[in-house]
Amino acid sequence: MIEKIVLATGNKGKLREFKGLLGGVFGNIVSLNDLESPPGVIEDGETFRENALKKARAIASYSGMPALADDSGLEVEALGGRPGVYSARYAGEGRADRDNINKLLAELRGAGNRKARFVCFLALVTPEGKEITAEGSCEGVILTQPRGEGGFGYDPVFFLPEYNKTMAEIPPELKNKISHRARACESLAKLLREM
Ligand code: IMP
Repeated sequence: MIEKIVLATGNKGKLREFKGLLGGVFGNIVSLNDLESPPGVIEDGETFRENALKKARAIASYSGMPALADDSGLEVEALGGRPGVYSARYAGEGRADRDNINKLLAELRGAGNRKARFVCFLALVTPEGKEITAEGSCEGVILTQPRGEGGFGYDPVFFLPEYNKTMAEIPPELKNKISHRARACESLAKLLREM
């Protein structure tokens, strides 16, 4: 078992979520907030995998600890997988979630196929250079209007047919069981158990 890892994020919400999902796998999970002047890593990869590996490699080599990084986003079938790695800045750098949703709904106006999936890629990299990656996804359909107040990002327009609700309408405990991040964490935990 790896005792201590650093999660390559300064986001407290993400740290809390990953502690809940991987608390049983790693003894101690710290974040970039616990490192002194961690390097900024530019997410300029063309895939989630590239971005997650780039972040984890940089933080493992800087901290001397195993580092875990994630990259995630929304892939829409009718848009050939866009916004993909550009999900956070789809409507432009620094724009609000609502702007990204509006752009997505405008691009999908009149589209018959509204299938989409959230994807999460995880990369665990040790300072010695050992690399383990895992992926998780969650399938849904993009609605024509937002519904629900929970979650973040594209959750209000991401409809889960199985629950007849959007990702913003289901309780957070359920999201943490079925989300792309939860599934990627399960897959990583399984790989580590088998090692
Ligand atoms: P990041 O992996 O934290 O950089 O997330 C990239 C972007 O993908 C976010 O800014 C959101 O727009 C979108 N995204 C990732 N995960 C979710 C989710 O669980 N719900 C809604 N949007 C998400």
